[in-house]
Amino acid sequence: STTLVWLRKDLRLGDNRALTAAIQSAQPVIAAYIREPQDADTGPLGAAQGWWLHHSLKSLANDLEKLGSRLILRSGPAADVLDTLIKETGANTVHWNRRYDPAGMAIDTQIKTRLRQAGLTAHSHSGFLLHEPSQVKTGTGGSYRVYTPFWRAIERAGDPPPPLAAPDTIKTPEIWPDSEPLESWNLLPTKPNWAKTFAEIWSPGENGAQQRLQHFIKHGLKGYRRQRDFPAADSTSQLSAHLALGEISPAQIWHGTIDLPDAIESEDIVHFRKELVWRDFSYHLLFHFPALRSENWNAKFDSFPWVKNQTRLQAWQQGRTGYPIVDAGMRQLWQHGTMHNRVRMIAASFLIKDLMIDWREGEAWFRDTLLDADPASNAASWQWVAGSGADASPFFRIFNPITQGEKFDPDGAYIRQFVPELAKLPNSLIHRPFEAPAPILAKAGIVLGSTYPEPIVDHKHAREEALAAYKALSVDD
Ligand code: FAD
Repeated sequence: STTLVWLRKDLRLGDNRALTAAIQSAQPVIAAYIREPQDADTGPLGAAQGWWLHHSLKSLANDLEKLGSRLILRSGPAADVLDTLIKETGANTVHWNRRYDPAGMAIDTQIKTRLRQAGLTAHSHSGFLLHEPSQVKTGTGGSYRVYTPFWRAIERAGDPPPPLAAPDTIKTPEIWPDSEPLESWNLLPTKPNWAKTFAEIWSPGENGAQQRLQHFIKHGLKGYRRQRDFPAADSTSQLSAHLALGEISPAQIWHGTIDLPDAIESEDIVHFRKELVWRDFSYHLLFHFPALRSENWNAKFDSFPWVKNQTRLQAWQQGRTGYPIVDAGMRQLWQHGTMHNRVRMIAASFLIKDLMIDWREGEAWFRDTLLDADPASNAASWQWVAGSGADASPFFRIFNPITQGEKFDPDGAYIRQFVPELAKLPNSLIHRPFEAPAPILAKAGIVLGSTYPEPIVDHKHAREEALAAYKALSVDD
């Protein structure tokens, strides 16, 4: 008989418990990836992440082929596809690593019950998070709503189990089931090819993920705590897109930060781990509040008077708000499929508080354009900025896009990279071109309203309006 490994957001060979367990069964192993239909519940696969998924699957298929094995691709509802594969291969066992989005969990629970009822063995394993969201409990057995005590609980739990080594052999079946050609899934953009810069920057796949980790440990971790807020510094790990599809496990990352040279200070290591734990915390929130992506965690925000304004929404999406740091971030997102965390917060605050546009519009745009789009981290972060989330930043803390820019991009390097039409402005004006005297604008080749937009709202005024709307809600923090 045969053992099936159903791969999902665990596109790696190393530290893959489902794969290792399947190999240990001593039966031939068939690894399959199922492209499941997407709807509002499952959360549609964003176009940018579709690009990543294509390359990630290709890379995994290559790695399996190097071991004499294969990756079988099928599409359709998972339960039907698994039934077919079981019939075709005579498999008696299915292994998978758990997922934690509500729709995925519901599908998996049903499948597990059905397989067991049919007399098959179905095993689910951990590995997508540092800890199972259901197992991190408060002293009274409840769930966490505040990050710091959650972090302390993780710290108390100690290091996650050491990662498993990648297999060096996989027993193959005599006959392989058919696989759909990856190209037929049309995950890559056709025309226009908006993903052309992605390939220059990113290396999807397990190898690329491991290289990123090693690069970060060597060059980014030292000084991380202080440097991580500066978007031009390139000092963060850039591992989020690899994590989103499970090309690397958080346990591999955590263990990568143990036993490092003394030159790397423990405060940098702890701070980095704390960020990694925000990912677990986001899943903890999603696990206990499955509507996190669509509903305000704090229901008092349900009556917030969001403004519907397509023109302003588009200006934000296209990086034409007239606020350089917001525009640089939105253009980085479009060109590179990512945005620095500090700028994500500034751009999200601008959409929600300066434009008073519903955070769900921002969540949807990020989901479609971020290579690291993640149902938990994205929704939790948007609600954090909106003030509607668990342990959120209070609504009245409104980012000033000018002073934030000046503080975190003091020499304008980030602006000059992504908003080149402002490149010739001096540092003192690059975050406030609308205050530049006419001769300086002329010298820098800028015509406001033509080569670069005038601000679409006045921040001071917009801030007051947002605060008034918030006060009318009488939300307690
Ligand atoms: P590093 O600084 O190197 O951090 C290491 C890892 O920790 C990251 O790879 C990530 O997995 C995790 N992490 C760091 N910060 C956070 C955080 N605030 N919340 C959850 N996990 C975190 N992150 C996503 O992975 N997917 C998203 O869809 C996403 N959407 C976001 C939307 C908004 C509005 C905001 C403000 C933040 C969002 N983040 C999201 C969190 C964060 O911006 C990214 O994880 C981070 O920028 C990724 O870069 P990095 O890998 O270099 O991070």
